[in-house]
Amino acid sequence: MAKDYYETLGVHRGASIDEIKKAYKRLAKKYHPDLNKSPDATEKFKELNEAASVLGDPKKKETYDRFGTTGEGFTAGAGGFGFSDFGGFSGAGMGSENIDINDLFEQFFGGGFGFGGSRGGRERRRSRRGSDLVYELEVSLEEAASGISKSITIPRLEKCPGCNGSGAATADSIKECGDCEGTGYVRRTQRIAFGTFTTTSSCGKCRGSGKVIAKPCGSCHGKGRIEKVRKLDVKIPAGVDTGHRLRVHGEGEAGEHGSQPGDLYIALRVSTHRIFERRGNDIFAEIPISFTTASIGGEIDVPTLDGKASLKIPAGTQGNTVFRMAGKGIPDIDTGEKGAENIKVLIRVPERLSKRQHELLDEFAKEEEKTPGGKGFFGRVF
Ligand SMILES: [Zn+2]
Ligand SMILES: [Zn+2]
Repeated sequence: MAKDYYETLGVHRGASIDEIKKAYKRLAKKYHPDLNKSPDATEKFKELNEAASVLGDPKKKETYDRFGTTGEGFTAGAGGFGFSDFGGFSGAGMGSENIDINDLFEQFFGGGFGFGGSRGGRERRRSRRGSDLVYELEVSLEEAASGISKSITIPRLEKCPGCNGSGAATADSIKECGDCEGTGYVRRTQRIAFGTFTTTSSCGKCRGSGKVIAKPCGSCHGKGRIEKVRKLDVKIPAGVDTGHRLRVHGEGEAGEHGSQPGDLYIALRVSTHRIFERRGNDIFAEIPISFTTASIGGEIDVPTLDGKASLKIPAGTQGNTVFRMAGKGIPDIDTGEKGAENIKVLIRVPERLSKRQHELLDEFAKEEEKTPGGKGFFGRVF
């Protein structure tokens, strides 16, 4: 029994040629084996073409509508339509085709088949830019705060100095590619229902460059690039933080055939500090002070990102009090405005007392009982 072509295209029996074309267009786009990699796609695409070739042709459609067959002995995959022409669709190498589906179908039904010069030119001769490289760099908190110049070593592909990246031994050994006549791409046109199907693909011989090298450069064997271990000095600006990436323009890998190099990215990590904890551009530390300093006040030395600083402790300072030292933090990477250093004081109670200290504290305690607000505080709580 013959196939139901209406069902294949998902249209009703009274569908107009226009509706049939639309249905075909939609389904062909969905099942074109270059675009649909499922194993059934090729078979489905054949069926669509078969159905469309009959229902799209008024004469064949009439015969089919009357007799349920076109009388041409159609069976799946055979017949007058020449499906053998489609052999390439499932073949190897199809993955490299550049198919612009929108352009394709506009041209498919729009009448102007084939690709215009400007369209072909879009993909042509665009040698690949070099790869970007990422280098992970760890800096100390001090280095992040002050900024620093670092010397790093990276292995990368560089432009071959022997041929200046061209890959050719001499300038006149670069010839126009015969396969694509120097255009860098090849066109393939296939007949299918309602017209032709044109695809452009990168020329396999010259890999899209339009040029072939008759005599390759001895240093790079025609590749135009050589591996080098390069030492670079990179400037790390003040204010960087973990997760920041610095872009060093043009210091990635060299491009193919002397084209643009990629960029180098420095992925930064600021190491954990033994004293400071960073939050944004502020830094935090906990510093122990003696209970006497807390009581009667004094000056203490505190660490900062650039050496020691003096911090005034007022008399009667309670434990966990935070002192903010403006401008002692980390500069903002954009504005340069510095954050603050925040010192939380922890009051240290002596674990061992000399005899004399003990006597003094005994005396102090007796005195404390008389002082209003001394032991009275605890008196109120308990
Ligand atoms: Zn070529
Ligand atoms: Zn070379």
